[in-house]
Amino acid sequence: MKIQNKMKAGIIGYPLGHTLSPTIHNSAFKELGYNIDFQIWETEEKFLEEKIQSLRNKNVLGCCVTLPYKKKVMQYLDNIDNSAKEIDAINWVINKDGKLSGYNTDWLGFINSIDFYKKSIKNKKALIIGAGGSAKAICQGLIKGKVKSIIISNRTLKKAEEIKVLFRNSQTKIQIMDFKELNNLTILETMDLIINTTSLGMTGGPDPKKSPIDTSLLNTRALCYDLVYSPQITPFLREAKNNKIDTIGGLSMLVFQAASGFELLTNKNAPINTMLDSVGIKL
Ligand code: NAP
Repeated sequence: MKIQNKMKAGIIGYPLGHTLSPTIHNSAFKELGYNIDFQIWETEEKFLEEKIQSLRNKNVLGCCVTLPYKKKVMQYLDNIDNSAKEIDAINWVINKDGKLSGYNTDWLGFINSIDFYKKSIKNKKALIIGAGGSAKAICQGLIKGKVKSIIISNRTLKKAEEIKVLFRNSQTKIQIMDFKELNNLTILETMDLIINTTSLGMTGGPDPKKSPIDTSLLNTRALCYDLVYSPQITPFLREAKNNKIDTIGGLSMLVFQAASGFELLTNKNAPINTMLDSVGIKL
């Protein structure tokens, strides 16, 4: 779609509260000289279909989609990209001449943030803690990044099993593990990459002071990655750092998924340094 002055883009979710998406995107639009406003579209479920249909308007470029609608909006779209189909969730809707397409850039955001910090995941043994919406994207990212094996552990084991089934055709070995087994030394010390995709440690979440695992049981060559980005240093990351283990926080993934979304919206390369800078991440 041809970009014209005074077009709009936004983020849809409920509740949205404070979101960094307008800061990240408006910095990028400004850098490229676009007069586009990125808005917050907090939408109750009863208005979701109407809101999605309004994205077909010629002054709307598209939107980012967050909790709790990453799966629900799929039914209202005209096309779904293959990666998003595999993950069974979208986080971007793009309007092209009144037709709406869904994409998932969360897995790309994860992979690109790993590259940004010059870490490698190829042939590594990975543990995903949590099996909510974001865990599916992480599983996809790990498979595309050619890890050796994946263990998924979740409080509700059935949801971990569902992710295993979702990716049953991949070449990567995927196992599930009971949440009660999570602090099992013999398993944890063999893990190279541990990713927290639960909302434990998140400000305003179910248990902001809690780390999902005892990081003293990890091997010091491990890498701990927390998807939670508020606060930037979560209990999981703080404890891992105290145990001399490398860490990556969720803010970089947020920016890199936004950068891929920006490229879908504009067909231009995202000004990644500006976007990282807008949330205080320096190269
Ligand atoms: P979600 O679909 O609601 O899943 C939440 C997960 O947390 C589930 O696995 C849930 O387990 C687990 N959980 C919640 N409370 C728990 C508790 N008290 N003890 C143990 N496990 C608990 O959410 P999501 O979309 O996956 O997001 C999860 C986190 O990732 C959020 O903090 C979100 O902000 C962050 N995130 C960050 C990015 C980024 O770009 N950095 C992207 C997406 C998400 P059950 O299944 O048993 O309920």
